[in-house]
Amino acid sequence: AQERYASIRDKPAKTLCGRTISLTMNAGLMADLPSLEGSGAEGVGLFRTELQFLIRSHMPKRAELSELYARVMDAAGGRRVVFRTLDIGSDKVLAYMKPTDEPNPAMGWRAVRVGLDKPGVMRMQLQALIRGAAGRPLSVMFPFVAQRAEYDAARAEMDKALARERILGHPLPETLELGAMLETPSLAFAPDSFYENVDFLSIGGNDLKQFFFAADRENERVRRRYDTLNVSFLTFLRSIVARCEASGTPLGFCGEDAGRPVEAACLAAIGLRNLSMRPASIGPVKSILRRTDLRELNRIIEEATARGDQSVRGAVMEYLRGKF
Ligand code: PEP
Ligand code: MG
Repeated sequence: AQERYASIRDKPAKTLCGRTISLTMNAGLMADLPSLEGSGAEGVGLFRTELQFLIRSHMPKRAELSELYARVMDAAGGRRVVFRTLDIGSDKVLAYMKPTDEPNPAMGWRAVRVGLDKPGVMRMQLQALIRGAAGRPLSVMFPFVAQRAEYDAARAEMDKALARERILGHPLPETLELGAMLETPSLAFAPDSFYENVDFLSIGGNDLKQFFFAADRENERVRRRYDTLNVSFLTFLRSIVARCEASGTPLGFCGEDAGRPVEAACLAAIGLRNLSMRPASIGPVKSILRRTDLRELNRIIEEATARGDQSVRGAVMEYLRGKF
């Protein structure tokens, strides 16, 4: 499939109305990194660090992790890599951690909640990230942040890790950006001070959608009840875009929908400028963006919303069919 899009691989995802959308890839293993060249991705918008933990039978050691993070950054050759700290719990259970018996693990003790309540592993991981960066720029984001206090506490852990590394004589990252994933509706309503403090936000659409619609992402029966292009969801996403524009917070989207061409075009039309997706999706998404006028598409979405349509998909498909 990548051969099909080879002719646009080195071209920007520039729309007919002149907007350039940044397309990055999702990764989680060293083996994913060669796709950076092949896909034409600008960088890694989401590096799911838990995969390294999930494929092992023992907790990885700090030195192994820092070596891996260094190799990932080497392979990216200076392009931005956003490392997401450990996102375990829910559907991702580590063989060497005592399982928790929770009635509803997706809404349970997972991700940054585990990191903050039992900070040993998170501290080890933050140290490994700083050491892996070895003086280079470093981007880290925390998964499943549901409120400002969690982001502040995670940030305080990073500050402590930096102080410790400085004392130990390790070089500190040249620059450091600390972001949060917006995966729970609550974060969309966090105080302005949160938006002003966070270095960037990335919408985890897979989780955000399941909590917005109260529909389990793993459950086919309920997942099929709604369309991602549901106007309520798009209106909600617009409100997040508006808040980030008001506070000047860089915003991206890294759920599966970013890699679906029609959905990606709609996300760009409502104002998302950074999309992160599986490498094989970069070509198809770039291809549709290069042939779309986002202002026109945004008008189609607004009109369908004003009409009271439940989903904009019909109107969007009709518009796109006329264009291609
Ligand atoms: C998401 O929730 O959209 C996301 C990118 O994270 P994950 O799919 O790993 O939960
Ligand atoms: Mg998620």
